[in-house]
Amino acid sequence: MPIDRVAVIGLDCAEPSLVFDRWANDLPNLTALRKRGAWGKLTSCMPPITVPAWSCMASSKDPGQLGIYGFRNRKDHSYDGLDIAMSFAVKEPRIWDILTKAGLPSIIIGVPGTFPIMKPIQGQMISCFLTPNPMDAYGSDEPLKQFTHPKQLKDTLKELVGEYMVDVKDFRTEDKAWLLEQIHQMTERRFKVIRHLAKTQPWKLLWFVEMGVDRIHHGFWKEMDPDHHRHVPGNPFEYAIHNYYKRLDAQIGEFMAECDPARTAFLVVSDHGAKRMDGGICFNDWLIKEGYLVLKEPLAGTTKFSNKLIDWSKTRAWGDGGYYGRCFINVQGREPQGIVPPAEYDALRNELIQKIEALPDHNGKPIGTRVYKPESVYKRADRVPPDLLVIFGDLHWRSVGTVGNPSIYTFENDTGPDDANHAQDGMYILAMPEGGPRGQKDGPTLYDVAPTILKMLNQPVPGDMIGTALV
Ligand SMILES: [Zn+2]
Repeated sequence: MPIDRVAVIGLDCAEPSLVFDRWANDLPNLTALRKRGAWGKLTSCMPPITVPAWSCMASSKDPGQLGIYGFRNRKDHSYDGLDIAMSFAVKEPRIWDILTKAGLPSIIIGVPGTFPIMKPIQGQMISCFLTPNPMDAYGSDEPLKQFTHPKQLKDTLKELVGEYMVDVKDFRTEDKAWLLEQIHQMTERRFKVIRHLAKTQPWKLLWFVEMGVDRIHHGFWKEMDPDHHRHVPGNPFEYAIHNYYKRLDAQIGEFMAECDPARTAFLVVSDHGAKRMDGGICFNDWLIKEGYLVLKEPLAGTTKFSNKLIDWSKTRAWGDGGYYGRCFINVQGREPQGIVPPAEYDALRNELIQKIEALPDHNGKPIGTRVYKPESVYKRADRVPPDLLVIFGDLHWRSVGTVGNPSIYTFENDTGPDDANHAQDGMYILAMPEGGPRGQKDGPTLYDVAPTILKMLNQPVPGDMIGTALV
């Protein structure tokens, strides 16, 4: 029997070493799926960040082609700071747009990069965790608030689960008991909705993304990981992530039972993995120390970094915080008060790359930082890319968004408690009703996902997709 439809089980941040090795025996549904299909690491995009990763996966285009380099992006070369990339930032067609054109129905739930819903698809859509407040959309016709398609789908959600949770409102909190309860509640509610739509609506593609995996990693990694510098053996949340994965596996099993397995291909994917975070590099404090960045006046203490603090007439480079670091160059004729002559731009970047990559940890040990030029990692670099992308310490270190810190190393997170960072490799499992690839195969990238789905649905793969079908 040919494949009639594809179910994509998206687990934001699911870590291959946990699913395939450490907890394989405790995850019967995922492990059984693996035994009848192909599986392995799925390399994420650069940077391995939720926004843009899911849109890269769904369009088979890189962040440069999408012009989306993280949650927040420069909208021009002014000093206005960074804007959050919402759905309308994605100009390339994603797979549900392609299927809509072909007249095939999709059910899309929680895929990051879909709020607000501006372009109706054929089928059903519930948008992503960037929905500011889903409850706002009830009784509102305002297009910028809509998080479901069709609009009345939100009433179905209310009937099914009460308040549908797009995300946990404040996952960087010390109130771990509350956080754990919230994550489980969000996941239970979402799966109830997914099962309901899977069995009541027609679909050729059903693609959902569960954010709980990412949130539980960021919230409970140090409790779980003995290698984390703040791990306390025997702490009350040592098994929080493990138990969540077991519950998630059970939910996946219940969902799969709602799909007719004889005609459905299953694809489990994560947009990146997870790893312990060792600390943060105060990127702008380092740029100040090295003389690249000059502030208007000395700071009294640690402050949130803002472009307003910068003396542009003396600044050559500045940075930004996040799970990865970005560096921007103040270029003459490009930035409003640029001082770096274009002829010296690349030499300055090379000098910065050399110095940043040589930066050791607080004990003087090398940490393996890698710095990339956008033109060397992307097919093209649309809109305003960072001048350098900085992956501190193989992602065991993050870039800190404050300035005026006593040291360039910090072990407090400026955005609230967070003990995990993203890892470059996510995971995939592909299981077809019969036949198809088998066994462990590391090496596919998230760009391969959209062509794989199209191929399984017997649809042409657009020539400009950069991935390759796995089937
Ligand atoms: Zn993610």
